[in-house]
Amino acid sequence: MASERQKRCKTAIPAGALLWLLLSVVMPVQAADILDVRLWRAPDHTRVVFDLSDAISYSILELDNPRRLVIDVADARLINVLTNLPLENTPISRVRSGVRYGDNLRIVFDLKAKIRPKSFPLEPNERTGHRLVLDLFDEDIKGTEVPAVKSVDQLSNRRDIIVAIDAGHGGEDPGALGPKKLYEKKVVLAIAKKLSAQLEATPGLKPVMVRDGDYYVSLRGRRDLARKSQADLFVSIHADAFSQASASGASVYALSTKGASSTAAKYLADRENSADLVGGVRLSDKDDILAGVLTDLSMTATLDTSLSLGARVLAEIGDFAKLHKPKVEQAGFAVLKSPDIPSILVETGFISNPTEASRLNTSSYQDKMAGAMHQGILSWFKSHPPAGTLLAWQRSNQSDGRVYVIARGDTLSDIAVRYRVPLKQLKATNGLSGSTIQVGQKLKIPDGP
Ligand SMILES: [Zn+2]
Repeated sequence: MASERQKRCKTAIPAGALLWLLLSVVMPVQAADILDVRLWRAPDHTRVVFDLSDAISYSILELDNPRRLVIDVADARLINVLTNLPLENTPISRVRSGVRYGDNLRIVFDLKAKIRPKSFPLEPNERTGHRLVLDLFDEDIKGTEVPAVKSVDQLSNRRDIIVAIDAGHGGEDPGALGPKKLYEKKVVLAIAKKLSAQLEATPGLKPVMVRDGDYYVSLRGRRDLARKSQADLFVSIHADAFSQASASGASVYALSTKGASSTAAKYLADRENSADLVGGVRLSDKDDILAGVLTDLSMTATLDTSLSLGARVLAEIGDFAKLHKPKVEQAGFAVLKSPDIPSILVETGFISNPTEASRLNTSSYQDKMAGAMHQGILSWFKSHPPAGTLLAWQRSNQSDGRVYVIARGDTLSDIAVRYRVPLKQLKATNGLSGSTIQVGQKLKIPDGP
């Protein structure tokens, strides 16, 4: 017996609805058009967004045998066909549509896995019109996995420093648009992936990607993910846009608890903060500003770290790129509002500037940009390592850069593992043939393979 559940969802009656109802008596009812349908796959859900010419009235039905999800839209027409949706890796096997009872539209998602649907309409904003967002959350899979936990070196008990890398925008929100349809969301993801690879290859540092594909994560969701991963640092990567194509240069930002440090910084923060509106976050999910926490002492310490670490990153970028401003700027970026995780936002350049846009779109420039962030982060953490980390341990155990003084209980193989160098190479560098070492003996640490 097929089980059947039905949910009725209606968009809020807009102001002036009464007038509209009266008008509808004398005028033919304005049918809503579904202008476009777009789809993105995230790690734990599939998002489908319908672009609408007007608010709609709709209902959602979940049906079994075969498993499917049905959306009935009253008095609507489908303008675009549903054939080009990227259904790979989604629980959807097929999407089809039909007309019922004259002008009621039915859209059917044939499903190959169990899902939990969540839907909500979005009001128009300056960048998009009416939308209906349909999120299909995976039910069969392991659930939302926390991407990383502070990894502990089993031998030395010295953990890695976790860096959360946040590629701005994604999915429904393309971010800034450059010439030749170059999207900010694509450029920043490429840079984020390069930074992740570089951090991964650095002993003592561990990256966690906030998003690693083309899907949207709410601004609050980005901070939450950093906290769940127990990040020591949060780096949000963006590319700027301005109405004048001549604007250029990279900048680094930290949170401001008061006003913005410049009008441009405020303008940019307002722009970036509006991402949730474009990205498809319901108003009720929006940020309730951490007003109380911002005055907290821990926030001050966090901000100091953000500013001085940001300055290192900015200096590294300044080695090869033009800087928009010579110092770290501050504004009320929602994504930087973690009270206890130092957070910076890097604007890698102006995607609205044709020269910078074409640079930002090359792999070699993306490498350089990632390299600058990597160097800035590493050099800051080398001089300010959090307690209990490999970098802290290295700092207190090395008389100079690559010399280690043997302590009680050390073995050559432990030391090789800690520094991630082959044991053979460690022995060769120090002219050792056996495994005998003495407390107080100095070892040169080779640069690794
Ligand atoms: Zn951005």
